[in-house]
Amino acid sequence: MSLNEISVATVKGIGPTLLEKLQASHIHTVADLLESYPNRYDSYDIIDLNLAKHEEKITIAGQIVVPATNSFYGRQQSKTQFSIAIGDAIIKVIIFNRAFLKNKLVMEAPVTVTGKWDLSRKLMTATTLKLGIHDDDGIVPAYRLSHDLTSKTFQKMLHTAYTHYHRQINDDLPQHLIERYRLISAADAIKFAHFPENNEQVKQAARRIKYEELLKFQLKLHVLKKKIKYTKTGFSKEADDEKIQHFMNQLPFELTTEQHRVLKEITTDLKDAARMNRLLQGDVGSGKTVVAAIALLFTITAGYQGAIMAPTEILAKQHLTALTNMFACLPDYRLAFLSSNIKGKKRRDLLAELAAGQIHLLVGTHSLIQEEVIFSQLGLAVIDEQHRFGVDQRKKLRQKGEAIDILMMSATPIPRTLAISAFGDMDVSSIKELPLGRKPIQTFVIGDTKLADAQKFIKEQILDKGQQVYIITPLIDESEVLEDLRHATLVYELWKDAFKNIATVGLMHGKLEKSEKDEIMHDFAENNIQILISTTVIEVGVNVPNANLILIYDANRFGLSQLHQLRGRVGRGTEHAYCILLSNATNAEAKERLGVIAASNDGFEIAEADLKLRGPGDFFGSKQSGLPTFKMANLIEDYKILDVARQDAYEIMASDEFQHNPDFLPLRDYVTRTIANENHQFD
Ligand code: ADP
Ligand code: MG
Repeated sequence: MSLNEISVATVKGIGPTLLEKLQASHIHTVADLLESYPNRYDSYDIIDLNLAKHEEKITIAGQIVVPATNSFYGRQQSKTQFSIAIGDAIIKVIIFNRAFLKNKLVMEAPVTVTGKWDLSRKLMTATTLKLGIHDDDGIVPAYRLSHDLTSKTFQKMLHTAYTHYHRQINDDLPQHLIERYRLISAADAIKFAHFPENNEQVKQAARRIKYEELLKFQLKLHVLKKKIKYTKTGFSKEADDEKIQHFMNQLPFELTTEQHRVLKEITTDLKDAARMNRLLQGDVGSGKTVVAAIALLFTITAGYQGAIMAPTEILAKQHLTALTNMFACLPDYRLAFLSSNIKGKKRRDLLAELAAGQIHLLVGTHSLIQEEVIFSQLGLAVIDEQHRFGVDQRKKLRQKGEAIDILMMSATPIPRTLAISAFGDMDVSSIKELPLGRKPIQTFVIGDTKLADAQKFIKEQILDKGQQVYIITPLIDESEVLEDLRHATLVYELWKDAFKNIATVGLMHGKLEKSEKDEIMHDFAENNIQILISTTVIEVGVNVPNANLILIYDANRFGLSQLHQLRGRVGRGTEHAYCILLSNATNAEAKERLGVIAASNDGFEIAEADLKLRGPGDFFGSKQSGLPTFKMANLIEDYKILDVARQDAYEIMASDEFQHNPDFLPLRDYVTRTIANENHQFD
């Protein structure tokens, strides 16, 4: 029996309580357990400071030269600061919520500090602090665990499982590929990934595991795409060209060449009997909505219903307003809006009319995928900000009709090369230029020393022009939501103070309830709040045309694409728009990256540069991009391996080998099994 058929319950020491926790983390089989790789490795080996890279997590040791001081803020939050000497260098250390250590952190005390290294500021933000010098802990894998599983328990389970089952770890890769790339065996890869003795083992494990994951992914895409191409199970739609022409004539603008081009790609799909599965990507403001509107009209005139789903009520309402205006010239077609706020009789009536086919276009939120929502004949479903929806949610929408066409939209431009390998089972249309007449947003990069000048400028904008302002505070990684909040709160206090009697300052962050967030956003849209301090939770598609200035703290910590996204909040009105990037980074790489943003307003260009420079905190690396995720590989960071895997997959599929050579049997089984089990696009 293979390890993906053996329950984790067979592992010694895993009783009912642990089993439940594991299952909640989607770990069911021994294979699932062994393939739950660390999300990072912490090194507690003391390193030479001169070799440390910016933002790297490192351990250093030295003697205290400036004793600790505590500062307190918020509810029981504290920050302790001190400095240590290492050779000639003096390093400042910050640690949160360890105020009790102050009395030990005295002059000349030796300490070992582990944390994130800020090269330009010569600053350590510590996560671990030990008194004395400790250089004996080696490499420690860190796991992203939930449901109060501790790393220690998890490691123990892994060890028991590995010891008992390692002989049954099969090598899915054919021998010739293992040899071609000098890969270590599957069993060794698992051993080195979980119990490494040195960095080289970590590296070899990663090379092997990532290659295998990406090769399997590419093979799967090939098979899926073939399957899709040869199944013409959709409906071919015959539209009423006259009505579409009429609709286009009454638009207040001409479509751009790019809009015409992608529209053609979409309508060709709609006419074809194969089901459409297309991603429409384009910068914020590139005019995707009108393209979607025409595709929906096309579908409606062909006798089907249309639907458009957005991730939040605010976005859905924005679509409703835009679509209602556009469809005003065709009063025979009925639009309706559905969200969780539509209740009682109104909701019942709407659902009845929808099921009877009396509503032609339904606009709304997640509510659209509820079971009670039944269409009479849905032909096209549009999903805006598609990456904000889970695979299951997208699948539910697909199942609202028989063989419906799907159009997904995204404002995160992804370079074409990457889009092909990431979304191999999807076709991609890209709008590459903004409509004419848009004023480019002027972008400045400044250091903290210029913050006072920036505030003066912002005061003028608010007082003289009645403008509103976004202030974005640092992005730390997901696991550090609390720290994000801490920064945002500090910044909020600062601006509230500086703008007393001048402007109302609001604060928005990830710990707020959804209703609270909506309320603050609403207040901002209504100009009850002039300065909105926010973490990156701020909505991607939100439109507040009176906000024409955005200031981003610690801009060097963001990925380029994310900076571009954030900048897209402004420049939506008629006024001149500005983006101020605060950064104290002095290293050449950070300067180059911010230079790209300052010089370009083109999302695709920026995405390409992002891909090449791939700085820390890269946007594509995170969940928000909607790219597929893997157990270890990352499409961006590992794009070189991805390239190799793509070519290998192509080669394998082009010959008969894959179907007939027994060497490929494990891979073949894998592909067949996962395609059968997963919620892929054509379920
Ligand atoms: P997004 O791609 O971000 O969804 P929208 O569809 O909301 O962009 O379009 C942004 C704005 O641009 C809207 O106000 C829309 O009316 C306008 N717009 C769209 N296409 C054109 C065009 N071809 N010429 C001028 N303005 C346009
Ligand atoms: Mg949009």
